[in-house]
Formats: sequence, C-alpha cells, structure tokens
Amino acid sequence: MADGADRSPVARAAGGRAPAQAPERAMWCDERFDFQATFLQCLAKHVPNIYSAEMDPLVEKQEEMVQAAILYPLECYLFGEDPDMFLEKLQQSGTSQLCGKVFKGGETTYSCRDCAVDPTCVLCIDCFQNSIHKNHRYKMHSSTGGGFCDCGDTEAWKAGPLCSKHEPGASSSPKENSECHLNEEIMEHSRRVFPSVIKYIVDMLIWEEEEELPMELTISREKVDSYYCVLFNDEHHSYDHVIYSLQRALGCELGEAQLHTTAIDKEGRRAVKAGHYASCQEAKEEIKRHSENVSQRPLHVEVLHADVMAHQKFALRLGSWLNKLMSYSSDFRQIFCQICLKEEAGSEKPCFISKLMLWDARLHKGARKVLHELIFSSFFMEMEYKKLFAVEFVKYYKALQKEYISDDHDRVLSVTALSVQMFTVPTLARHLIEERNVITIITETLLEVLPEYLDKNDKFNFQGYSQDKLNRVYSVIFDLRYILVSKPAVWTDHLRERFLEGFVSFLRILTCMQGMEEIKRQIGQHIEVDPDWEAAIAIQMQLKNILLMFQEWCACDEELLLRSYRECHKAVMRCSTNGRSREKTVFHLCGHTLESRPYRVSADPVSIHLPLSRTLAGLHVRLSKTGAISRLHEFVSPEEFQVELLVEYPLRCLVLVAQVAAEMWRRNGLSLISQVFYYQDVKCREEMYDKDIIMLQIGASLMDPNQFLLLILQRYELADAFKKIKPTKDQDLIKQYNVLIEEMLQILIYVVGERYVPGISNVTKEDVIMREIIHLLCIEPMAHSAITKSLPENENNETGLENVIDKVATFKKPGVSGHGVYELKDECLKEFNVFFYHYTKTQHSKAEHTQKKRRKQENRDEALPPPPPPDFSPAFSNVVRILNCDVMMHILRTLLQRAVELETHLWTEAMVQMVLHLLSLGLLEEKQQLQKSPEEEVTFDFYHKATRMGSSALNAVNVLMLVEKLKRVPQLEAQKDTVNWILQMFDMVKRLREKSSLATVGATSGSEATKGDESTQDKEKAERKRKAEAARLHRQKIMAQMSALQRNFIETHKLLYENTLEAQGKDDAIMEEESTSSAIDYSRIALGPKRGPSVIEKEVLTCILCQEEQEVKFESAAMVLSACVQKSTALTQNRSRILELSGDTLDPLFMHPDLPCGTHTGSCGHVMHAACWQKYFEAIQLNFRQRLHVEQIFDLENGEYLCPLCKSLCNTVIPIVPLRAQKINSEDADAVAQILSLARWLEIVTVRISGYSVKNAKGEKQSLPPFTNKGTGSSALEFHSILSFGVQSSAKYSSSIKEMLILFATTIYRVGLKVAPNEADSRIPMMTWSTCAFTIQCIENLLETEGKPLFGSLQNRQHSGLKALVQFAAAQRTTSPQLLIQKHLIRLLGVLLPNYKGEDTPSLLEVDMFHILVAAVLSFPSLYWEDAVDLQPSSVSSAYNHLYLFHLTTLAHIMQIVISSATESPTAHSSDNSEEAQSAQSFCREVCQYTSGCFSQDIPGWLVWDCVKKGIMPYLRCAALFFHYLLGVSPPEELLQVSEEGQFKALCSYLCLPTNLFQLFHEYWDTVNPLLQRWCADPVVLSCLKGKSIAIRYPRKRNHLIELPEDYSCLLNQASQFRCPRSSDDEQKHPVLCLFCGAMLCSQNTCCQELVNGEELGACTSHALQCGAGVCMFLKIRECKVVLIEGKTRGCLYPAPYLDEYGETDPGLKRGNPLHLCQERYRKLHLLWQQHCIIEEIARSQETNQIFFGFNWQLL
Ligand SMILES: [Zn+2]
Ligand SMILES: [Zn+2]
Ligand SMILES: [Zn+2]
Ligand SMILES: [Zn+2]
Ligand SMILES: [Zn+2]
Ligand SMILES: [Zn+2]
Ligand SMILES: [Zn+2]
Repeated sequence: MADGADRSPVARAAGGRAPAQAPERAMWCDERFDFQATFLQCLAKHVPNIYSAEMDPLVEKQEEMVQAAILYPLECYLFGEDPDMFLEKLQQSGTSQLCGKVFKGGETTYSCRDCAVDPTCVLCIDCFQNSIHKNHRYKMHSSTGGGFCDCGDTEAWKAGPLCSKHEPGASSSPKENSECHLNEEIMEHSRRVFPSVIKYIVDMLIWEEEEELPMELTISREKVDSYYCVLFNDEHHSYDHVIYSLQRALGCELGEAQLHTTAIDKEGRRAVKAGHYASCQEAKEEIKRHSENVSQRPLHVEVLHADVMAHQKFALRLGSWLNKLMSYSSDFRQIFCQICLKEEAGSEKPCFISKLMLWDARLHKGARKVLHELIFSSFFMEMEYKKLFAVEFVKYYKALQKEYISDDHDRVLSVTALSVQMFTVPTLARHLIEERNVITIITETLLEVLPEYLDKNDKFNFQGYSQDKLNRVYSVIFDLRYILVSKPAVWTDHLRERFLEGFVSFLRILTCMQGMEEIKRQIGQHIEVDPDWEAAIAIQMQLKNILLMFQEWCACDEELLLRSYRECHKAVMRCSTNGRSREKTVFHLCGHTLESRPYRVSADPVSIHLPLSRTLAGLHVRLSKTGAISRLHEFVSPEEFQVELLVEYPLRCLVLVAQVAAEMWRRNGLSLISQVFYYQDVKCREEMYDKDIIMLQIGASLMDPNQFLLLILQRYELADAFKKIKPTKDQDLIKQYNVLIEEMLQILIYVVGERYVPGISNVTKEDVIMREIIHLLCIEPMAHSAITKSLPENENNETGLENVIDKVATFKKPGVSGHGVYELKDECLKEFNVFFYHYTKTQHSKAEHTQKKRRKQENRDEALPPPPPPDFSPAFSNVVRILNCDVMMHILRTLLQRAVELETHLWTEAMVQMVLHLLSLGLLEEKQQLQKSPEEEVTFDFYHKATRMGSSALNAVNVLMLVEKLKRVPQLEAQKDTVNWILQMFDMVKRLREKSSLATVGATSGSEATKGDESTQDKEKAERKRKAEAARLHRQKIMAQMSALQRNFIETHKLLYENTLEAQGKDDAIMEEESTSSAIDYSRIALGPKRGPSVIEKEVLTCILCQEEQEVKFESAAMVLSACVQKSTALTQNRSRILELSGDTLDPLFMHPDLPCGTHTGSCGHVMHAACWQKYFEAIQLNFRQRLHVEQIFDLENGEYLCPLCKSLCNTVIPIVPLRAQKINSEDADAVAQILSLARWLEIVTVRISGYSVKNAKGEKQSLPPFTNKGTGSSALEFHSILSFGVQSSAKYSSSIKEMLILFATTIYRVGLKVAPNEADSRIPMMTWSTCAFTIQCIENLLETEGKPLFGSLQNRQHSGLKALVQFAAAQRTTSPQLLIQKHLIRLLGVLLPNYKGEDTPSLLEVDMFHILVAAVLSFPSLYWEDAVDLQPSSVSSAYNHLYLFHLTTLAHIMQIVISSATESPTAHSSDNSEEAQSAQSFCREVCQYTSGCFSQDIPGWLVWDCVKKGIMPYLRCAALFFHYLLGVSPPEELLQVSEEGQFKALCSYLCLPTNLFQLFHEYWDTVNPLLQRWCADPVVLSCLKGKSIAIRYPRKRNHLIELPEDYSCLLNQASQFRCPRSSDDEQKHPVLCLFCGAMLCSQNTCCQELVNGEELGACTSHALQCGAGVCMFLKIRECKVVLIEGKTRGCLYPAPYLDEYGETDPGLKRGNPLHLCQERYRKLHLLWQQHCIIEEIARSQETNQIFFGFNWQLL
C-alpha cells in the first residue's frame, strides 16, 4: 500500500493536517452521536471534491486528501489513539500464522510432492525457502494468478505446514500468545464503524443508478451537470481494437487512446470523456457504433454522474483500507466477517458478502480485485469464517456459476475461482458434502448449464459448440474434482446418503453422455465436413479422474459400493434399450448356438462414449477386490443383471476400433481416427479402452464361454469367415477380413491374458505401474519425462513412477548434451509380453524387434512366449474357460490349418503369432493349475482338447499336429523358436498329466519334472556359452577390420574428419609433423643470433569446392581459408565501459591494456581456391536475389555466407601465404653480434627514421620532432647504415594473393571498426596488426582456461586459422604504402625508444604491450624500404630487430607490472632471498629515485619478483605463439606439456630472455635509463603510484560467465524480487540475466526499450551492444532458457545448464522438477563464448530451426 510508510506523527503535525481535522475528530469521538450519519455526511462532503478530476487524476494528491479528510479521523476514532503508533503496536504483537500471500500471474509457486495433500496446495517463494519442503521432492510452477499461499494451513500439508517465518514464536514478539486481543473499547468501535463502512462499500459497488446517489450522500450538494463517459474492459476486444474505436469516436490522439486502453486493461474501467450529460451520451453512442463496426459486439460504455463515479472510486479505496486493517488483527477479521455474514432478521435478502458475490460478474476488474483480496485477507485467514463463507458460496453456487458462464472476464477475475480454496480443504469439503449437499449442487449446476448441448435423444452433442463457453463449463467440472480430492476416512450415515445422492445425480450427467455423438459408417462418398470431436473427448479427459475418484469413494464402504453399483446398473440398463425392437436371430457354430438381436457396427450407429458402462465395470472390479461381489445378488437379481446387454456396447466400441484399423471407415475422415486414438491414449484409456476390456472380461467370466465367443465372432462380423472359406478374388476384402481376424484374436488375448488390474487378479497398484514401465523400457531406454508422459496420472497428477522405478530400471547419467535415461534391469525382461495391451502398433513391433535382437545377441532362441500371468481372482476365474472351449478350438484349428495348407491369402504371420500366443496361454494355464492342485481336480483340459481329433472330416487333424507342421512352413521361419517352445510346453503338460496320474504323490513328480528340466537346461547353458564365446571372437575380428577400414577412410578424407579428430582431444596431425622435424636437434630459440631455423613442410591443400589439390606458393593462385571476423569483448574486465558503436573517428593503433573491445578472427579451417570461393559467393548472391521473399539467415551485404562444408557462419576469407624459410649462418650472426649492441641498434634506427623524416618533410611541415639525444650518436652512422647488416629482396606475391590480402584486410577494417569499406584507409594496417594480436591473446586465454599446453593442443581449425592469420599480417604490409607503415611504426616506437616521444604517445599504463610488440615487429621491415628497390631485412637483421623490439616491449611490460603491483601489500612473508629477488630489490631502489618517492622503496624484492613472474606469463605465452607462427621455429619440448615452472624457463629460452628478468635492465642499464626516467615521470604513472587511480593488474583476470546458483529456485527467487528499473506497475515482467556481466534486464517489454540509432531496441539487444559488442548470452529466468543473440536480427534459444535429478533440462519449466546447475554444461557455454563460437551456434541453430525466423530479436 502506498500509505503508512513514512507517516510519522511529527510529519503529519508539520503538514498541518491533524489540527485542521481536530473538531471533526472530536465530534466522531462523541459516544452519543450517530456514527453512520456522521460518516456519510463526511463522505458526502469530501468525496466528490477529492475525486473531481477523473479525466486526469493527480493520484498522489487525491491520496493525500483522502488520508487527511477521511481516513485519518476515521482511524483516530476507531483506535482511540494515534493510528500509526497503534498499528505499530499491533504489528509487534504478532501476526497470523497463515501466510495468505495472494499470487499474481506468473509468480512462481511451489508444491511439495511428498507433503502436499493435493497439488493445489502451494507455497510462495518466501515460505518455501524457509520450509522443510525445500529439501523434498518439490515442483515449481507459474501461477495463473488469484491463488494464495497455503503456508500455515494444517490441512494442506501432511508435514511441515508452517515455514520458519510463520512458526509461532518465530516472530519478534516474546509473547507466548501470538494473537494479541484488542481491548473492548476498540472492539466496540469496530462493531460500530465496520457496518457503516461495509454498507457504504456494498451500496456503492452495486449502485446501478447512473445519475443519482443515495439520499444520504446527496444532501449537502446541489446536483451539477457533470458526467463521465466511462469505458469498461472486456475480453472480446483486442487492444488495437479499443484504441481504434476510441480514436475514431473521440477524435483523440493515438497516445491518448493508448493511455486510456492501458488503464482500462489494468483497472477495468476508465473515464474517457467528461462533460455534460448530453455530450457524454453522444460519446457513448459513438464509441459503441465504432466498436460494433469492427467486431460484432459493441464495447461496454456507460455514462456516470461525476459524484457516482467519485463515490465508487472511494468505496474501493475504503476496501483496500479494510484489507490493510485485516492483516493486523484476528479480532478485526472476525468482526468484519460477522458483519459481512449478518442477515437481516426475517428478511430473505442475502447478507453483505453474498450480495457482493452475486454482483461480482457485474463489477469491473479493479473492483473485483479489491473484493477478492478482501475475502482472502479476512474470511480465508480465519478457518471458522472460511467455513461460513463456503456455506454462503455453496448456497449461491448455481447462480454464481451461471453468472460466470455468461461473463466475459477471465476465470481468475471471477469469484467462482475461489472454489479451489475451499473445496480442497478436506474438513470443509466433508462439511459441505454432509451439510450442504455440495456434490449434488455441483452436478445439478452442470445439468442446468449443459442442456443447450442436448439433442433430441437427450444426449449431449457438441457440434458447433463455443470453445469459450465450454471452457467455462469445465470450471464446474473442476469443482467436482476439487471436492472429491480427499477421500473421507470416516463415514457417517448422513455422509453416505449425501454422497450417494450426489453420485446418482452425477449418473444423470453420464446418462446424457452414454452413447452421445453416435456415428455411422460412411459408404460411397467421403463425409463432407469432419464433425467436431474435440469437445466430447476433452470432456472425457476432464472426467477421467472424477470417474476414478467416484469409484474410489464408492469402494470405501461395502454397503455404499453395492448400492452405487445397483444405481449404476440401473442407469446402464435404462440406456441399453435401442435395438430391442428387432427380432432375435440365431447363429450356429460347432454345435453351439447364439440367439441375439441383429446389429452391425459397420451399418448401424455406434458411439465411443460409454461412461456409464465403464463406471459399472470399474465398480465391478472393486466388488471383486473387496469381496462384496458375493452379496451382489442381494442388490441386483440375476434376471435383472443381463450380462450380454452389459457387454454389448463396449464390444461394439472395440469392433469399431478393429474396423477402423481394417480401413473400413476410411470415408469418415480424420475426426474418427482422432477419436480412436484418444480412446486408447494414456490421457483417456483408463476410463475408456481399459474399462471396455474389463467389461469383456466380466462377460467372459459370467457367460457360457462358447456363447461369449459366438457373440464376439458375430459382432466382429466374422461368423462366416470361420464357417467355410468363401472363394473371393477381392483383395481388399480379403485384407479387411485378415485385419479383423487379427484384431479379434488380439482382443481375445487381452481378455484372457491382461490381468494386471486390482480386483481382476490379486495385484497392487505398484505392480501395475511396474508392468507399464517394464513394457515401455522394453521398447528402448527412456528419459524420465518420456516415461512420465506415457503413464496415466492420478487426481494428484502423480504417476507413482518414483516409488517403483528403481525396482525395475537403472538410471544412466547424461553427457554434456542429451539427457539421462532409464534402462530396464535384466531380471525384468522375463516380464515382457509382446502382446501388451497398451502398446500401439508401432510400439508393439519396435518392442518385438528390440527383444528379439537382444535375445539373439545373447545367443538365445527368439521365442517370445507370454510370461506366466497372475491368477484371476475368484470372480474372474471363469474367464480362462474360453481358452479350451469348442469355439476357441475351432478358431485355432481353422487358422492353423489355413497356414499349414498354404492358403496364403487367408492367413498372415501376425495371425499365426497370435494363435501361438493363445496356445501358449492355454498351456501355461494348464501347467500352472497342474502344479498347484492334484491332476484329477484340474478340470482345465486344454491339452486334451488340443490333442483330440475332431469328429468331422474338417477336424481330421488336431491342434498339436498342426503346430508341428508349422515348422515346415517357410514363411513362418521367424516363428520357429516359438513353435518349438510350444511343442516343449505340450510335452511338459503331457508329462505333468501322466506323472501325476501314475505317481500317487503329486509333489515329488513335480520336482522330478523340474529336475529333468534342469539337466537339459544345463546342457543348453553350456552350449550357449560356447556359442557366445565364438560369437564374441568373431565380433572382435570384425571390429578390428572395421577400424582399420575407418582409419584408411579418415586418411583419405582427412579434411572431412578434421572436426571429429579434434573432438577426440588429441591432435595427432600437428604432433607428428613437429616430432619428425625435431629429430635433428635444431636450436629452439626464436630470436637473436642463436635463432633456430624455420621448420616448414611443403603445404599441399585440397579445395573443398572443386576437390583439386594445390601446393601453397608465393607465385601461385591464392588459396583461402573461410573465416569469420567479429568484434569481441571476451577479454575485458570492465563491462560498464561505453563502447563506441561506430569507429569513424577511432584510432586503433594503441590498444587499451584492459582490451575492452578487440577484433577476433576465427576460422573453421576449410580451404578453398580463391577463385572457387568467389564463384561460390556470387552464386549465393544470385540465388538470394531470385528469392526475395525468403528471410535470410546471413547478411549478404556484409559478405556473410555459410562455409560450404561445415555450414559455419563466415564473413570473409584469409589468404594462405606460405612461410618464408629463414636460416641463420652462425658465423654471420657472431660477426654482427660484435657490433650491434642495443645502443647501436637504437642509433641506427634513429638515424634511419630521422633520415626519412628529413626526406619526407620537404616542402611540408616537419612531421617529426627532433630526436632528443642526437649527440650521443656516432657520426659514422648515416641513413643507409641499417642496410649494412643484411638485406634481401621482398617476396613476390601473385596478383591473386595480393587481391585476397587487400580483401581480407578491408573486411577486418570494416567489421572491426563498423565502418564502410575503404581500401585506402590509413587504419587498415593497424586493424590487421590489432586482430592478429587480439586473436593470439584470445587463444592464449583459452588454452590457459582449458588447462592445455601452449603448443600442440590447438584444435586443427584454430591452428590453421592462426597460422594463416599471422602470415597474412606479415604480408599485408606489402599492399600498403610503405610511408604509411613507417608513420605508424614511428608512433609505436614512441612508447619504446628512449630518445623519442611523439605528441600522442600514450603513457606506459595506457597501452597493451603485446599489441605494440606485434605491430612493431610486423611494421618494422618498412624501415628498409628504398625508392628504387624493394628490400627487406635479411634473416640475421630480422633476428636482431625482433630481439631488440621484443626486449624493449618486455622491459616496458615489466615496468607496467611493477608499477601496477606497487600498491599491493604483502599477504605472506617469505624469506626468499634468491638472485631474482635481490635484482628486483635493487631495481626498485633505482626506480624509486625517478618517481620522486612515489614508488615505495620498502616493497620486498621477493614480492616484486613474484608479481613480475606471475604477471608476465600471458605476455610471454602470447609472444611465443606469435613468433612461432611468424617464423616457424620449433618451440622447446616443455611447451608441449603443462608445467608451471618448466614453462617459464622454456619460454625465456625460446624468446631469448634471461630467467632472471631484471637482468635485462641491468644489461641495458645505460641505454634504458632515460627511458625509465621518462616512463616514471609520466603523470598517469605517478597518479597510479600515489593510489589516485587504478591501473590494470597483471596477469589480467580471466573472464568467466557469471557464477550461477546451484539451485534454480534461487534464481527464481531473484527474479521474483526483480523490479523493472523504469516502470512501477505490478505487471508481469520477464527478467533476463546477462551471463557475461550479471546484469538483470527487463526484456520483451516496451518500458525498457531503448532508442539506438533511431531504432527501438529491446533491453537485451541494447545491452548486448555494450556488453558483448553485439554478441551476448542471456538466461531467461522464468523460462529457464538461454538466449544467444547477435546484433539486432539474429538469435537462438539454447537449453539452460540446469538439469533435474533425471538428467533432463526443463525449458519453460513445464515439468517443474527441482533443477540443479550442471557445471559441465555451463562450462560448455563458457567455451562457446571464449572460442567466439556464439555466432556460429546461432547460425547453425537457425539453419535447422526455421521457426525462429518469425521472432523479432530486436525487441528482446
Ligand atoms: Zn507464503
Ligand atoms: Zn510461511
Ligand atoms: Zn515436503
Ligand atoms: Zn577449387
Ligand atoms: Zn567450414
Ligand atoms: Zn552484460
Ligand atoms: Zn521494464
């Protein structure tokens, strides 16, 4: 609430409010006055004034006035003292134990699967975090709004109903009694104040007069002609719609119309025009007219008098005032509730609260919200009053639901949505059923709202239904579900009667559904329109759990069960009348006859909706389970029972399914196929398909078996098919028959074999679930979510999976991608039944295939006989008789005979398989019975029947003989093992029969029989083992051959396999090359006189486009590598820096040491001819132009394309320039060494540079300042001295290479600076050097974070990319004017040369030294340029140039490290007194002098040395990479491994540095002294040393994605506390977390859009521009998804790195399981970033996932 926060009494007095109101307060305090009258007078006086400016309200002002004029005096009167102090006291004295937090839409709610009574019991995030459930199996969900936190409700939780915050005694109050009672005076005042306040609120809210006010409120004012035209919210008109209508009707601006519309949507209504009555009335008509034009309905507009409007507004304000008050004291709540519930004596009128409820649907949105909140904070916080409220609610239930159904607001805004808060409370539900007959009331409500869907037969028919209306009806069905959620433990007679009454009423609904939406087979023509089927199926789905719950409730009590069975039976019978008019016909087969009324599914109407029959089947198995079935005859007489009639309708339904499978219903269209699908689908099958099978089992158990089978044959319309063979040539018809026979056999298998239903056999629910899971896992290993989806959920949305899964399966963890799966335990495989009734056709064949394959691998036979089924319960034991009855024998024999006689068209393999399965079932049954009881008691004589010769000629052979013959049928080769198994079974049963008849004691014979089995089993086992061993050896051999082949293949297709090899981690290719070359012990030093030779092989590459090979040479046509150049912020530590979006004025020569934004060049490593690539690129361009409408994945304008081989996103190519082999003659080198000291080298360079500047300055202003210490130079030096140490001619590149050099350099310039391409720009060389340096730094960084050695561990693509990049960077110089290069070089040297400093030379602390090194080395050869000849330094010259340049930058870098770590204070003491520490110490002493004491002399030497040694590493590693790729000198072995100490030494040796780095200063002391002085005197350096500014520390911190919490709910917690920085409304936000910097953004919302370069960008897109130079990675917290974006147009989604305990991600938090951070996956994301592969990932995802094209990434 807006008030209360800072209202100290002092502030109020100062504001002058209290004194002004003093008289009024005094008056109110008078005990004798009439409060009501005074109160109303006060309102009448103030309210219209306060709320006078409705069109443009000053909300804060209004609030202030309300406080001063009304609320403050009111509170003073109520409390009798200062309100703030009083409320403070109340607050202190403890609050309610109920949390009662009301959820807004989108807020995360938590439920505990272990402790919640039902899934509607939820906690708010605060309570959850402080509860015991945090460590239970919880679920997270997004609230739809309107619910409230159940913390503290003892009925909602089996354990831990209170969080630690709401636990009594947890509050700050020391008092034991958590509720402080108000004193009697305040109670008395409340009793006086509340009625008036409530009455006022009620009166005003339900006030219907538009112009007049109640008498009491009008007295003080003259009526003025001031009105508002008020527009109301509805759900029919869209936003744009309303805006349009308003603009048209009122002639207002778009902005104003938008403002109105937003307010209407939020609050429910808004005054859109003020004025006289007539003008408002006119506006009203205009709005209605305009809105009607666009949609059928006009907008809801009213004209209200200003005073009415003001009072209504204030009534709501009073409502929230009460709401606040309620939270302070239980006494307030109770008084409030009492008054709300008080009925006027002798009046029929509803009480206040009921009045409001009944008016709810007519209130606008804002009013409803206030009202509902008030109910939550009062009634729902007091159990006793919640009950009384519920009673009122039920009293008006019908009226309320009807209002809701015709209302046009969302359900969350309806008072009916409160039902869940009451109906799910067990004691309340029970009370409401017992005392208020709520089940009957709900069902009757349904019966009253559904009749519009009834047809002439009084059945439902949803054709042409309105989806919206039906959805509203569902809410009544939900209520039924809520009320049934908790089954009562104790039953009273009263409860029983009420429940039964409700059940009977419910049966009336089912009666309207039984047989609804009948269909008739379409013959000839296809149906014209597919009928609506969704509604009926949807209702079935909604009802599924309600039906189950009713059955469970009925089964609580034997009496109840029998009585409800009788009622249900009656209802079924009433519905089973049709067809009675027809004459019965007679059907004969095998000497049995069936009399029945003719009916054909293929010709007569049929319906799949039979909820009554199925409920009866459900009750029947419960009768069997509880044993109550023995008393059934007392309730339903055998004559009434009529089992044939009960079976009839479910049987028809199954036949329909069979006929659809046989394609007989093709012409009825898709709707039928969908219905049949859902009939058997997990969402419906429990109360459809499964129950129909049960009904057939009931039939089979109660009917004569032969009669039963005859009925089946007749309904399947197969009577003729088993009588005689009708010769027909109609292939379709034959096929149809075959499918029907298969379908029927399958149903027979199910009727006999499917016994996993409690009541049908003695199994538990757990057994049933285990069996379902086993059969799912027999198909393939599955993820947890996939199993869950395939199991039916109970009323609490639980499948029971967790309780049993570990018994049947083992969990296999996922890798870095993919998900975890469950694998079936071996011991469960024996449970596999290939004809499992919940298998779909595809699942059936997949499972069969998997299981056969497995058995084959284990060298076992492929027979898949049925597992021994559990015994039927007594009530169903007769079912097995259908196996050995005459008709069954006839069916089996007929089909086998057809197979044996090879009448191919009359049988199928599937058919035979099913026959064999039935035989197996029969044999198993007989075997089981024989093993259990003495032979003579076993009447089940399957063996006897199957081996008996038939009497007629047709039956000349018996079943056993036929089975034996099957072995010879070639088409049945696959069934051979099964046939053998059956023959063995025959044998075994025969022996069991014989033995028990011979031996007198059954038991011994049994054990002998098994012993016999065992010995043969042993033999078989040994044989199998031998076979298995042989097979294993064979497999091994094959594998060896395979991998040899594979290796060959890889070698010949190396290119293709590069990526796969990389994935294996080790890059053999490079290792091999380098190790062969190292056989001879070359010098492994890269710089200086001892420089080793370049190691180069002839490079022959294959173009991926034309597949031709070519050697890389200077003079040949260019080969190129596909490449992608991008800006990158991957190395910066400072993400808040504002990046220049365009580089028009940027000078990129010097890189800031923080590396804020570099240019990265990456490659996928694929090589093409430059010419081939150009052709390819042109072809894409052409192709694109021809298909303009296709949205582009890549930006052709900017040179983007996908690599033709690997589809990586590229935007340029790198030319491959060969490395020029260089070798030093050691004698030359030694000679040079004598003369060329650093000092000398510096002089020569200085002379050369000044020479140039003199030369070039002719006629123009001298561009260089004079060198400072010319005097020291020897006069012998002149302009050409530099050439005397050796020169050579420059390399001659082919024109095609040159062209590519220019093209690539221009791309780097264009992308890196975000400017238009310009080949002549002077910054092109700078960008070339910069990307070279930056890319090396990125790679070094990556190798370090991945813990890989510096050399030999790069991925192939990185290796070839880097090689090409460095060589390109060296060659690029030749395509630029040398003068330009020189100019850049001179600026660079300004940092390093002791005797020269340019105007713009940055301070030592403002440059990255590695960038300087790379640029200086690459540009240095330009100093050798002569007008006439194209020269470059010889190997020896280069070696010295490199050495000195490197040493100078190293000195500078050491200085950077020393200065930046000078402020570091030692954290530990060390007695290190090594040579290095001493050198460091003495060096520091020297430096100290130059810094005028700023540099502390006291820093211990060892600390300085430590800092330098650690800090310089990345630089040295980068330098080693750079020189290696530039010169091709092999690195020392140590760098091919990871080792701290060895690495440093090896680097120093490779780079020609002393390991005691301070030695360098010592060596060059005289030369570098002035340089040191200059560096130290720099103001930036001094300010840093003084601690005034902070310099970059070395080593730089390595970037990581931000740290994420282990538990995802922590993130949700953060998100729930997130407030949009720009708007304050309570609207739902989409908080998004930047994984680079941790910023939380408000995404996909207009409030946080940003205008960048004239374009509206969403918060993420604009953040990405700064944070990641356009590329960024976000976590959408509420959706649990990672978003990768690039620029404004591209992005993709990626699963968040959080997994549930089953190793699965949960995008969208759909499943809601607890999620935990998976470090490996997060690391993968980190690498994606650091490897600069985000763009690549996006492109790849967009290629495969076309759906994201429609998404507007710009506004993210
Ligand atoms: Zn809570
Ligand atoms: Zn709590
Ligand atoms: Zn729990
Ligand atoms: Zn080619
Ligand atoms: Zn590629
Ligand atoms: Zn960021
Ligand atoms: Zn925002």
